[in-house]
Amino acid sequence: RRPAGLDLPDRIFGDRRNSRGFDLTDATELARIDAARDVAVPDATPLVAGVVSGQTRAVWNPATGAIVAQVTEADADCVEAALAAAARWKASPQERAEVLRRAADLYEEHFGSLFATLTQEAGKSLPDAVGELREAVDFLRYYADQGAVRSDAARGVFAAISPWNFPLAIFTGQIAAALAAGNGVVAKPAEQTCLVAAMAVRLLHEAGVPVRALQLLPGDGAVGAALTGDARIAGVAFTGSTETARKIRLNMVDTLDPGAPLIAETGGLNAMIVDSTALPEQAVRDIVASAFQSAGQRCSALRCLYVQEDIAPQMIEMIKGAMNELRVGNPWNLSTDVGPVIDAEARDGIEAYLAEHADQVLHRLETPQGGTFIPPVLLKVGGIAEMDREVFGPVLHLATYRAADLDKVIAAINATGYGLTFGLHTRIDTRVQEVSDAIHAGNIYVNRNQIGAIVGSQPFGGEGLSGTGPKAGGPHYVTRYQCPTACDAAI
Ligand code: GLU
Repeated sequence: RRPAGLDLPDRIFGDRRNSRGFDLTDATELARIDAARDVAVPDATPLVAGVVSGQTRAVWNPATGAIVAQVTEADADCVEAALAAAARWKASPQERAEVLRRAADLYEEHFGSLFATLTQEAGKSLPDAVGELREAVDFLRYYADQGAVRSDAARGVFAAISPWNFPLAIFTGQIAAALAAGNGVVAKPAEQTCLVAAMAVRLLHEAGVPVRALQLLPGDGAVGAALTGDARIAGVAFTGSTETARKIRLNMVDTLDPGAPLIAETGGLNAMIVDSTALPEQAVRDIVASAFQSAGQRCSALRCLYVQEDIAPQMIEMIKGAMNELRVGNPWNLSTDVGPVIDAEARDGIEAYLAEHADQVLHRLETPQGGTFIPPVLLKVGGIAEMDREVFGPVLHLATYRAADLDKVIAAINATGYGLTFGLHTRIDTRVQEVSDAIHAGNIYVNRNQIGAIVGSQPFGGEGLSGTGPKAGGPHYVTRYQCPTACDAAI
């Protein structure tokens, strides 16, 4: 919907289509995807205009432990070479938009190798890999449209620090927005997912983005710290933990102009309330998708479910039954619903949490052999206030509440300080309005699941500890990558 009071171009709201995706219910389409995935995953190296140097390490498939490919991680000399060469993208806004649209087409053409890499490097199931590709393509086209209608007012060179849980979509979104606005980018992907990042950057270069305007630096946190603390950087786009966002902010203030933006999407402690008027079958389906899809490794995922006590015994049985239907295993198999968590460190951290809370387990599926698996788990809690951290995996906390205490539940959810997603299942219209008004969350979903925001129609981002805004995939996002005078002129 067009935001009131803003004279934004029609193109953003008008005749715009998201990527069509794939029909996974069609056997011929599935066979075509399956055949195309059967390709070797290429190695990754820094893609920089200067000298490439650094150590090589193996990338492991989290579902099998097999080596997928090698990555060369940038050392300090390589980071310096990239920063020395980095430059704004000097093409006209129209040319930039055309190149980004060409990149979107190339992403779609290369679906097979992108799916293969997303599955083998990041443990993505096929539906998740399809969702990622669509979102990445949508970001490219949506931001291309916005960049093309604005004056050329780049800020300079952005550092883009992206997460492993959306290694194609979020990685591409940050870069596409910065480039659409005419900036240069030095991108540092999560160290767990450099292969798909390198593949994406190669496609962006092939589409026509100059290497000096887009460089890739695979590496660990030291590479990110070197970039975000450098005076040649004009701003930072970051998605990851609230704690790391704070560190980046501190790292930036010493060296940069105080107006330099940190655009951060961070964590959440997302809740859903299901009252006694909800449709149980629909609520259960949406609870299971919100908590366990992508092995719970979405910052939007449902972490704490509040069920009105009158319907709780029935709901708990139904949730357990729906959990039993989930297939946990190697995501290369098309029937897998829940793949592995990203690596052994993530698995061990979640297992340690589950060991601390062993007496609260209501239900837990079997752990498959082999990779870094955490099976879906349901834990009983008194309320969200007991949760002292975001458990980034397929662990759902369940609390019950009395109808008279709804206000207290809302206050407890708000008191976490996070405000990313929130879900509500009810058939009382006035309650939808009241609860939505009272909850502090960037994305509120009613009578549906609370994951998978769609570019252009559901701008995504939180408030409080969950992020700085503006929302990704919304009409104000590219604006933040431009200097303020240009934004004033454009609006
Ligand atoms: N945009 C994603 C969603 O709506 C979540 C992004 C994230 O996990 O960082 O599910």
